[in-house]
Amino acid sequence: MASALAIPPSSLVVEACALGVLLGLFGAWRNRVRFVDEALVWAAGGAFGAAVALAAGAALAPRLGAAPAAGSTLALVLWGAGSLLASSLTPALDRAGRIAPSLGSFALKWLQSPFFTSAGLLAALLLSTWGRHARLARGTLFIEVGRGAAALTLGAVIWTRGGLFDDRGRVPDVWVRHEALHARTVAALGEWGFYPTYVIVGAAMALARRGPWNAVTTAGRGNPFEKTAYAEHRGWQRRRSSGTAG
Ligand SMILES: [Zn+2]
Repeated sequence: MASALAIPPSSLVVEACALGVLLGLFGAWRNRVRFVDEALVWAAGGAFGAAVALAAGAALAPRLGAAPAAGSTLALVLWGAGSLLASSLTPALDRAGRIAPSLGSFALKWLQSPFFTSAGLLAALLLSTWGRHARLARGTLFIEVGRGAAALTLGAVIWTRGGLFDDRGRVPDVWVRHEALHARTVAALGEWGFYPTYVIVGAAMALARRGPWNAVTTAGRGNPFEKTAYAEHRGWQRRRSSGTAG
């Protein structure tokens, strides 16, 4: 069967996963991840992202008239280059606080997360959210979707409940920093590296420690992918409210 030939050799899978681990750790380092278990889930996400790239390249290549091995190699190189570029550039671009670097960061995140970013934009369009609040900040596009005060990262797009926008249509920087870090994580690991690792590995680690699957308690229990984001978040809130934990 031709499909059997599409399975990459195991040595290539091991090498790709090793590369993914290194790129995941590089991304964690560039994004100043503070916790060991958080760096480990970045590494796992990198391995998963590399493996998915390999499999997708092998599966797609024959349809384009190319050999599966060539497709695997090309997909892996593209994923790795995108990860390296995103981890190297997006932290500084997001910190710059100007529109051009922010747009550059957004573009890199979109390249690394074409499906979720495009779906997030399209769904926001279909939900007729245009005309409500939308704001680009730290290379991340916050679009108002519904009421309340929560946010969901979809690649470079953040579905943001209306309660998080202030009267002037801005999202407080504490939330922007939090969500921009998630968007950079998606960019570093690739969307198919990040999301499965977040909802399977991260959530399992959270549940094993009786923490929330998509957040972190003040005691540090929860999804490791949330740890640095919440630590910065709570440190900022403490500074703002003179010692009251948020
Ligand atoms: Zn979060």
